[in-house]
Amino acid sequence: MPTRPDFLVESLTIEPDSGGSGVVKKGQTLRVTDIEGQQVGCFVSVTEEDPMKYTDCIYTNWRNGRYKWREGDFVYSNHMNPLWFIADDKTANHYTGGGFCSRDAFQHYCDSDQPGCREILQSEYRKLGMDPNLLQSVSCIGLFMNVEYAPSGEWLVSEPITKSGDYIELCAATNLIWMTSVCGWPKVINGEKPTPLRFELYGSTR
Ligand SMILES: [Zn+2]
Repeated sequence: MPTRPDFLVESLTIEPDSGGSGVVKKGQTLRVTDIEGQQVGCFVSVTEEDPMKYTDCIYTNWRNGRYKWREGDFVYSNHMNPLWFIADDKTANHYTGGGFCSRDAFQHYCDSDQPGCREILQSEYRKLGMDPNLLQSVSCIGLFMNVEYAPSGEWLVSEPITKSGDYIELCAATNLIWMTSVCGWPKVINGEKPTPLRFELYGSTR
């Protein structure tokens, strides 16, 4: 795998409570930057050839032997093929259990009728001409989301540890389509208030 991104191909800044998507060719690197810090991005990717081949948190946890992925790890598909190589990761702290917030969750916990990351990701599927019912809960990586599985059995969610400018770099092992929802959930999923994330695509000459 190429280890360093060489030149910027495109850059997209996505506000909270909204989505975005992009195409990454094999060998290109996607850098996701937490611009202000303490912000979660729900992130899904599928292969360009087949939307039923998608990132799979559980198989990735299995193959890596850990749920806190880090630099040097691969992210695998539901068929256990490598889709991304984690080329750099400033915090190595992401939620890898799958799932996303949703309209139901906002109603249940926040007494608010608004789309969650599920609906925003599904709208990205629609924009790309894909069936939104293909969205898989297990394919969603909670970038920068801070979850610990406590030895006591508790599922502990805390504010993200990311500081302004922290990022993860994902190098594509095959041609991929990614979709994201920059999470609008209040504290403690995010910090004091939801803030934007930046998605930069880099090419490599090596
Ligand atoms: Zn969310």
